[in-house]
Amino acid sequence: MSLVPDIDEGSRPVIVWFRDDLRLADHPALDAAQRSGRPLICVYVVEDAHSGVRAPGGALRWWLHQGLQALGNNLLRQGGELLLLSGQASQRLLELAMRTQAAGIFWNRRYGQAERSQDAQIKQLFREQGRFANSLPGAVLYEPWTVRPGDDRPYQVFSAYWRACQRLGPPSMPLPRPARWLFAEVDRRGVAGCTSLADLDLQPRHPDWAGGLRDAWAAGEDGAWRRLEEFLDETLQGYAEGRDFPGRDACSRLSPYLRLGHLSPRQVWHAVWSSATMHRLSGQDVDKFLSELGWRDFCYYLHYHYPDLSRHNLQPSFDAMPWRDDAGALRTWQQGRTGFPLVDAGMRELWSTGWMHNRVRMVVASFLVKHLLLDWRHGEAWFWDTLVDADAASNPASWQWVAGCGMDAAPYFRIFNPVLQGQKFDPHGDYIRRWVPELAKLPDRVLQQPWTATAAQARAAGVRLGQDYPLPCVEHALGRERALQAYAQMRGRTRPD
Ligand code: FAD
Repeated sequence: MSLVPDIDEGSRPVIVWFRDDLRLADHPALDAAQRSGRPLICVYVVEDAHSGVRAPGGALRWWLHQGLQALGNNLLRQGGELLLLSGQASQRLLELAMRTQAAGIFWNRRYGQAERSQDAQIKQLFREQGRFANSLPGAVLYEPWTVRPGDDRPYQVFSAYWRACQRLGPPSMPLPRPARWLFAEVDRRGVAGCTSLADLDLQPRHPDWAGGLRDAWAAGEDGAWRRLEEFLDETLQGYAEGRDFPGRDACSRLSPYLRLGHLSPRQVWHAVWSSATMHRLSGQDVDKFLSELGWRDFCYYLHYHYPDLSRHNLQPSFDAMPWRDDAGALRTWQQGRTGFPLVDAGMRELWSTGWMHNRVRMVVASFLVKHLLLDWRHGEAWFWDTLVDADAASNPASWQWVAGCGMDAAPYFRIFNPVLQGQKFDPHGDYIRRWVPELAKLPDRVLQQPWTATAAQARAAGVRLGQDYPLPCVEHALGRERALQAYAQMRGRTRPD
């Protein structure tokens, strides 16, 4: 039975399936649907575990709630609505199409294995019923199969990959937001799986741990564009040098907006390019920033070619790594109580805001896999649960990069010293003082290694070391030595006879 009276072919509606693209501008699927001239049904499906698509962690669920709310409000302003469904996407969408006599469906592509299999299945189901199902380019600058290496092997090294992208020319121009809107009227009653934002229960309640996230992030396209414009006006100039300093406001903080597609990477690329041309900005800052967007694309490219990125070492020799099993050490790291101020500051920033500065992500990840000798998958899972930008491609690819088992990875034997990293990239301790306030009054000289403070310095700063702030959970030299021995052991085990 249909929920709309019989309608002639020309006015049958089309479904626009929103996924990681919660915006109205530069939305190829929405643009194609609108140009079809048919009334639109805009829908988001909160997928169940059967899809195989990685279920979002806690912070991303919170961010998804904000994003869906903002998109719903934007559609409402155009006279439409966002239909929320829960369940198995293929089943729900097909039922919706049958109920509403939809002629077909449009969506923007995702590039993981589970997502692609699901897309193929839905295309087949729709087409079997005489409906069309069209997918369009998704959240990348260059779709993975367009960047072709000389031989059969996918690119293994970022610089070669990025040069190949650049040879393809600039990414396509972003599409404008539709100028005219025509929505189908859908009676929600009887649409299988139809639900409300409140019933999706995406936000934490007891305890409500999202206060810091609410303070840090304004969702939606408007919030995203404000952030981008601030970055262009205030921070792009000087980005290449400043981006490594977590105490400065020197990077874009656009990753959460890119994650759920409040902005597309094409929009960011072109906004940066035109702002740089207009203000004659340094090529170095612009090139560096665009290459970071390139790293994001590279992660998507790797995820496309190596779907098991979050589970398996890209370099199989690491399967023999003698990781330790130490739940206590993992908890110490998660809670930001390692006794190394830069590591603890990062882990507390993550817990509080759902985001962490890139330099500090590298330091805390290195600390976990090297000083604590814990499997990178533990860290990846914790980030997955706590980051608002938790990304199925960038997160595992970056963890593997730090652990030394990824593509173009930092060698395992290069071990960050968290004290020296702090002295170099947070020389006045602005970042540490913000996130580890119990150390705020220590002088710069000892801030990065508080265990070297004299009793008088600690007393004057009002901190009791070992009580208010922990002593180091592992000595740097010992942790380093243990990591190197484990690495040598792994190589011994995997070295061919
Ligand atoms: P900017 O410096 O302003 O860069 C602009 C954009 O480029 C970012 O928004 C991001 O989309 C992209 N980008 C920048 N650096 C990288 C990078 N190294 N790899 C991939 N893309 C990059 N990024 C995520 O988006 N999601 C993740 O889950 C994620 N997990 C990470 C885990 C570890 C262990 C590490 C070391 C890095 C991880 N990153 C992840 C990459 C990077 O840390 C963040 O993208 C960056 O910190 C976001 O801040 P920003 O928007 O200010 O970046």
